[in-house]
Amino acid sequence: MMQIFIPLNFLGFVYREMKGALANIEKMFSLLTVEPAVKDRDGAAELEIREGRIEFDDVRFGYRENREILSGVSFTVQPKQKVAIVGASGAGKSTLFKLLFRFYDVTGGRILVDGQDIRSVSQESLRRAIGVVPQDAVLFNQSILENVRYGRVEASDDEVMEAIRHAHLHDFVQQLPEGVETLVGERGLKLSGGEKQRVAIARALLKRPPIMVFDEATSSLDSKSERGILESLREIAREQTTLVIAHRLSTVVDADVILVMDQGRIVEQGSHVELLAKNGHYATLWQLQQQERTAEARTAVTQPL
Ligand code: ATP
Repeated sequence: MMQIFIPLNFLGFVYREMKGALANIEKMFSLLTVEPAVKDRDGAAELEIREGRIEFDDVRFGYRENREILSGVSFTVQPKQKVAIVGASGAGKSTLFKLLFRFYDVTGGRILVDGQDIRSVSQESLRRAIGVVPQDAVLFNQSILENVRYGRVEASDDEVMEAIRHAHLHDFVQQLPEGVETLVGERGLKLSGGEKQRVAIARALLKRPPIMVFDEATSSLDSKSERGILESLREIAREQTTLVIAHRLSTVVDADVILVMDQGRIVEQGSHVELLAKNGHYATLWQLQQQERTAEARTAVTQPL
């Protein structure tokens, strides 16, 4: 009996380890384009999370010499605040995320999490404190239940179900032939962009890290999916410090602070109402997106059935 028990127990361990590793792959897929060049300092301390405050202090960065991508970026995300980053393509939004994860080191200035320079702590402890909802979540050929469980592999079924409910996936799941046991992924049911993002949100809710970064999907969503994502994002932002790369106005309207980026700089920051009153970059972006929305709505109405 013992002879059987030990290998099975060991296999269970290997399985759990692999699942943990696979969950990390999602982060790699979404955020890594090159091998990380960054190494821990000798004897690097563990990051001590107290409140979840993030500070970018005069951060400068370039992927290559002679081409600066971020030119003196400073901002603070207070504990439990929701901060949205908007700006044209190529402005440097994703680069901010990559630096926060320390996939690269800043070339000037510093990034602090709860007062600790992220270069002084272990990357493992830093990444453990940060959850990510990528644009395009990786789904494995398993049930929805198991796919969500990747957020915290030791979570019970009840905890996974709660995360599914909070991520507003429940109605969708109930319509599936085998509910949460339905197989998804390459060999199972294909999920839409919005549904995949909600699986990623459910994983993040299960993990509940003190800091959450959310890369909003650029793909167009129907209004029901959009509403679902927005509600689950509010769920995340209620208890965690949340940083969102936002492409849709609906996401930024209720943010505590909106950072407007242009060519590697923060050119405006404030709430939606404050920024509209400034009548600057943000107000222009807002007007453009409003026009696009109106045009889309008109096209939808005039499309033949
Ligand atoms: P988008 O909204 O299109 O995702 P973004 O605001 O997130 O854009 P970044 O992805 O941060 O912009 O890119 C900022 C600049 O850095 C761009 O000019 C981009 O080409 C460049 N860049 C991004 N990643 C790399 C990389 N791995 N190597 C070299 N240059 C890069």
